[in-house]
Amino acid sequence: MTLGTPYILIAEDERGQAEILKYNLEEEGFRVGVAPDGQQALDMIEDAVPDLLILDWMLPEKSGIKIMKKLRASADTKSLPVIMLTARGEEDDRLRGFEVGVDDYVVKPYLPSELIARVHAVLRRSRPELAEE
Ligand code: CA
Repeated sequence: MTLGTPYILIAEDERGQAEILKYNLEEEGFRVGVAPDGQQALDMIEDAVPDLLILDWMLPEKSGIKIMKKLRASADTKSLPVIMLTARGEEDDRLRGFEVGVDDYVVKPYLPSELIARVHAVLRRSRPELAEE
């Protein structure tokens, strides 16, 4: 179990949004990686399992739901905390997201501060050893 700075992976193809989020999370003291498509997200997770994954539902190469199924089927990532990003109106995706085991979701457009509050909440719940001071 890694102690120290939590590592968060953002899987998001909208580059501007990914950059803003990365900046805000780094300001919070997290280590942050960005994957611009679904396949790269899976490759990066295989290299280094993050403490939390922020997963955009609509991704090139592999959709959020495919990624979730893959993650939940593997022992290394079965319990990896995931916050899913959906566009407004994608109700069905949200429900399917919970079925495949996402921990929380945030609807776009979101405020970085809202997402960061959820990141803290999910980490506290899933990785109490990473809880902030
Ligand atoms: Ca997208």
